[in-house]
Amino acid sequence: PAAAPPALDVRGVTVRFAGLLALDDVSFTVAPGTVHAVIGPNGAGKSTCFNVLSGLYRPAAGSVRLGAAELTRLAPHRIAALGVARTFQNIVTTQGTVADNLMLGRHALSHAGFAASALRLPRAVREQRAHLAKAREIAELTGLGAHFDSPVALLSYGDRKRVELARALCLEPRVLLLDEPVAGMNAAERVRMTEVVREIRAELGLSVVLVEHDMGLVMRLADEVTVLDFGRAIAHGTPDRVRRDPEVLRAYLGT
Ligand code: ADP
Ligand code: MG
Repeated sequence: PAAAPPALDVRGVTVRFAGLLALDDVSFTVAPGTVHAVIGPNGAGKSTCFNVLSGLYRPAAGSVRLGAAELTRLAPHRIAALGVARTFQNIVTTQGTVADNLMLGRHALSHAGFAASALRLPRAVREQRAHLAKAREIAELTGLGAHFDSPVALLSYGDRKRVELARALCLEPRVLLLDEPVAGMNAAERVRMTEVVREIRAELGLSVVLVEHDMGLVMRLADEVTVLDFGRAIAHGTPDRVRRDPEVLRAYLGT
């Protein structure tokens, strides 16, 4: 709805690396509860954009806002605490059980603190139980319910990628940043991941920003697409609209 405040507002973001304009005055808005894809050829600035949104890079100009909150120069953990969680493309957990990994994700939200938990104070015990219940709920939602107590090292690649997603969801984010969520997956794993992302959007009502090379996934999943080319946003719109845009075709086909 037009009256709703934007979940995430990216305005005029510029990032330079030693004279190279990695992002040049990039703006886009992610509406609440939608999936927004950022696509573009190699070197277009997609990862740089993600790193700005999650606070790893500070832009030379421009701003990123979540509702009324200014995220632009906050440290990554502060941005996470304000409700922006991210997954990493190449980091897949191999330690501990699924439950352990999800509880690590919950740890950032813990109020009781480690000392209180270690002393098993009543409040800490209650909090720990609530965290475990929430972790179990998120495992169910991401199709990991049956593997909750399994060592992550024994899971398939597709399941492990969903552990990474579930860990990010344990922060109960308002915005979820997915960095190439289906990279390295086979066809069946891709379909599964697509279903899970659809489901979490529907169930949790959060906004998703995803960087993705797989056009099929972008077309099936995204409500809105921003196309980057040489650091500039050259097109915005629905997947159907941007796939017909002459400038987008030129950027992709190099004609
Ligand atoms: P994409 O993710 O779309 O492939 P990137 O955001 O990784 O593109 O890169 C955009 C441009 O910025 C590229 O020309 C890349 O070489 C350059 N770049 C990215 N990160 C750095 C960095 N840390 N230092 C210098 N140049 C970088
Ligand atoms: Mg990249």
